[in-house]
Amino acid sequence: MNFPVKICDNYSLVERNTLGLPSTARYYAEANTVAELQSALAFAREKQLPVIPLGGGSNVVLGDFLDALVVHVNLKGKTVLSRDQDCVRVRAEAGENWHEFVLWSLDNQAYGLENLSLIPGNVGAAPIQNIGAYGVELTDSFVSLEAMNLESGQVEYFDRQSCRFGYRDSVFKREKRDQYIIVAVTLDLDATLKPNLGYGQLGDLLARRLGDQAPSAVDISRAVCDIRREKLPDPSEVGNAGSFFKNPEVSPSEMDRLKQEYPNIVAYPLGQNWKLAAGWLIDQAGLKGEREGCVGTYQKQALVLVNHGGATGRDVLSFSRQVQQKVNEKFGVQLEREPRLYMDDDKIPL
Ligand SMILES: Cc1cc2nc3c(=O)[nH]c(=O)nc-3n(C[C@H](O)[C@H](O)[C@H](O)COP(=O)(O)OP(=O)(O)OC[C@H]3O[C@@H](n4cnc5c(N)ncnc54)[C@H](O)[C@@H]3O)c2cc1C
Repeated sequence: MNFPVKICDNYSLVERNTLGLPSTARYYAEANTVAELQSALAFAREKQLPVIPLGGGSNVVLGDFLDALVVHVNLKGKTVLSRDQDCVRVRAEAGENWHEFVLWSLDNQAYGLENLSLIPGNVGAAPIQNIGAYGVELTDSFVSLEAMNLESGQVEYFDRQSCRFGYRDSVFKREKRDQYIIVAVTLDLDATLKPNLGYGQLGDLLARRLGDQAPSAVDISRAVCDIRREKLPDPSEVGNAGSFFKNPEVSPSEMDRLKQEYPNIVAYPLGQNWKLAAGWLIDQAGLKGEREGCVGTYQKQALVLVNHGGATGRDVLSFSRQVQQKVNEKFGVQLEREPRLYMDDDKIPL
């Protein structure tokens, strides 16, 4: 069979994951069109290989060798579909860079994504974990997505309900895991700005900068970028995948127990339950800035694991397990990994 997409073999992914881990894909393809994506999938079916979609590689931990076809989803396009006095409906294809898409939306007087500025990666991966920051999540503006079924090669539609979004979670991490490649996302943004400044230092920084003056969407976006640059390592300088663990959810009775022992514990209400600040737990377990060989926690934010240079996926996994163990020993709380692991240990859920 002839495949009208270039397939490379033994392709190095070291430049394609923000942790900078050495990893070789048995096969690699870049899909710039739906037809190229379909032919890449046909190739994988013929070879009976699993398919791993890859965007910006900012939320993955890669093993040394991936016996799979890795497909870099590079479909491009951003469109305003409709506009009325309340709502601007926009659609972006999966290969668009997320931050550039946010800036484009603001240029088009479409608001609601400003708090999600500077999150690395591409549009296609955003629904996978329902990206979120500074009190806003993708689900807040999400309408639908189009995703190619890996088995049939057909494009199917998912509305918000069928995506089953949760905190850093969606159906694509659970029941529909490894079954689809997202090709485009449609969002309903606001035609007028409704600032959401209640989270973290964002409101304080804007008040310092602007006094009583109401911030524009660009002011908010810039403030978010500045806070993020201050707190998080730049992957082009220090390999990392952002927050390595999710903030663990605990029941009210569990929260009472923890509060008695640790009155300063940092937590936020999450429905009936509580979300603990995982960074605080790691910090209090004495692990901030801790290092073992090439891997450590980031000096300014213990929730971020960094590759100091020369680490492998296995080194990162091993260090992350030590962090989980120490936090569990101290607090009796289990941390869950946020990035997706692609290596033999993938069967291990934590
Ligand atoms: C410095 C830093 C800061 C970060 N801050 C945040 C933050 O504030 N909030 C937040 O939510 N996340 C954050 N992240 C995590 C990451 O940026 C997001 O999860 C992002 O959406 C990942 O996009 P990506 O294109 O890099 O995905 P990748 O790492 O390429 O892929 C992640 C997962 O999605 C799958 N995938 C990718 N593309 C597709 C597709 N088209 N169809 C189906 N599956 C696909 C992959 O197979 C993989 O399982 C941060 C990461 C870094 C490095």
